[in-house]
Amino acid sequence: MSSSAACIFCKIIKGDIPSFKLFESDKIFAFLDIQPLSRGHALIIPKFHGEKLTDIPDEYLNEVLPVAKKLAKAADATDFNVLQNNGTIAHQVVPHVHFHMIPKPNETEGLGVGWPAQATDMDKLKALHEELKSKI
Ligand code: 5GP
Ligand code: ZN
Repeated sequence: MSSSAACIFCKIIKGDIPSFKLFESDKIFAFLDIQPLSRGHALIIPKFHGEKLTDIPDEYLNEVLPVAKKLAKAADATDFNVLQNNGTIAHQVVPHVHFHMIPKPNETEGLGVGWPAQATDMDKLKALHEELKSKI
């Protein structure tokens, strides 16, 4: 595990800051969000300190979605969002990668999402597709 002494989520993993732990393995840790958007809102974090998804080794990410499923089922969430923010402008506040599992029980509780869809442009999509394929 890679850890940062100043990071609140690294402190939660170590138990230096208390949390309502829901799941733990050698690679990940899951716990209740302290300011939930809805009942059952939980966070899943890798036991590897990194700010953005691109900083985290793949082996720390393998269990994330299976655990998100477990958390959604445990919260009896039939409608829910799995969210992971990268960077301040993308609404990331805590600089240790975390995945939210946010139940959406009704219109007002849970995640609200802005979705500024752009018009379909096949020429642009085709050019982008070629560029991205060449880089993956
Ligand atoms: P972000 O906006 O970075 O994606 O979300 C950070 C989340 O971490 C927020 O939902 C916030 O409520 C949660 N959070 C911040 N500090 C703590 C803490 O000390 N304990 C817990 N359980 N959650 C925290
Ligand atoms: Zn950390």
